[in-house]
Amino acid sequence: LNAHLAEFGTTIFAEMSALAVRTGAINLGQGFPDTDGPEEVREAAVRALRDGRGNQYPPGPGVPELRLAIAAHQRTRYGLTYDPDREVLVTAGATEAIAASLLALVAPGDEVVALEPYYDSYAASIAMAGGRRVPVTLRPDPAGGPDSRGFRLDLDELRDAVTDRTRLILLNTPHNPTGTVLTRAELTAIAELAVERDLLVVTDEVYEHLVFDGEHIPIASLPGMRERTVTISSAGKTLSFTGWKVGWITATPELVTAVRTAKQFLTYVSSGPFQYAIAEGLTLPESYFAGLREELRAKRDLLAAGLADAGFTVHRPAGTYFITTDITPLGAADGIDFCLALPERCGVVAIPTSVFYDDKEAGRSLVRFAFCKRTEVLEEAVQRLKSW
Ligand code: PMP
Ligand code: GLN
Repeated sequence: LNAHLAEFGTTIFAEMSALAVRTGAINLGQGFPDTDGPEEVREAAVRALRDGRGNQYPPGPGVPELRLAIAAHQRTRYGLTYDPDREVLVTAGATEAIAASLLALVAPGDEVVALEPYYDSYAASIAMAGGRRVPVTLRPDPAGGPDSRGFRLDLDELRDAVTDRTRLILLNTPHNPTGTVLTRAELTAIAELAVERDLLVVTDEVYEHLVFDGEHIPIASLPGMRERTVTISSAGKTLSFTGWKVGWITATPELVTAVRTAKQFLTYVSSGPFQYAIAEGLTLPESYFAGLREELRAKRDLLAAGLADAGFTVHRPAGTYFITTDITPLGAADGIDFCLALPERCGVVAIPTSVFYDDKEAGRSLVRFAFCKRTEVLEEAVQRLKSW
């Protein structure tokens, strides 16, 4: 491994999912649903394969049907107008969108301000670009519980993190792993800072449809932001096809061209037939998106109550399909030790949140559980966790 990647081993998700397979434990670690997305979207993929649509290299920016659907999605939901030909780029999942954006926009030595805890690929992608990550830590409401405000951003800390070397702010809302949904006031303050300091914003909004309290506001929709924002999303979460790896960005032609320059040498193009299917998925009626959200809201409530019953401090998420807990009340102190012992002791797998921190101490006693699982699986997991 070269010096840039030396600090990165196997991702925690692969490691913990392997542990779940090895021990037969219930996997509330890696965030993927245990039921597939809509039947009609799967049928659309089969049709595309059969009809020979996308079986050879699709166009570099993505198939026109999907780019149109993405542009329509941004316009009808958020009033954001993007030209499907010049301002949309399809990527191999949000993961490639993040990597290509950072490789395209960050020069060696540039600083990237990112919310901590951060999704694991951010640190690796910043490193691959030769950038330096500057974390701003979200702080939990110490009380936890149903009225907890969850993990909050300190805007002064964010302001202090920006220096003359800062190139961009890497945002994530709704936020993995904390479930924080940035408010309009917070996003407005971030936008003002970006404009004042002439920064780009790369914003990961893969959980945009999974907001239970409050609303999702794309920062690109705020004054002065459209021209400096790369917005990233993915079909993995919205349509429950994490294995299809269809993601995208929307941004100005200049930014899209920059990201595409990097993307074309990472994967060249993204897999064809699934793009046609996701184009159909994105145009499903609103009842699909509302249904997914309501189903997951019920699961959040079930798992949050169950974890609280089992003795965890629960930081109730406003969005995503993750709950971050504190294990201190269980007499445990270290999330990594806890997660390594959990499959044997309780038959459940979870993710130690400290791996998403530079400030390991801040995340030491935090553990993340995913609730994108069938109700009976969540109920069984809760029963098992009570035996800790
Ligand atoms: N960003 C965040 C915040 C995520 O949680 C994930 C995991 N799904 C991704 C990006 C990666 O998305 P994809 O599977 O589309 O590459
Ligand atoms: N995004 C998912 C999570 O946070 C997993 C993605 C992955 O395994 N890379 O759990």
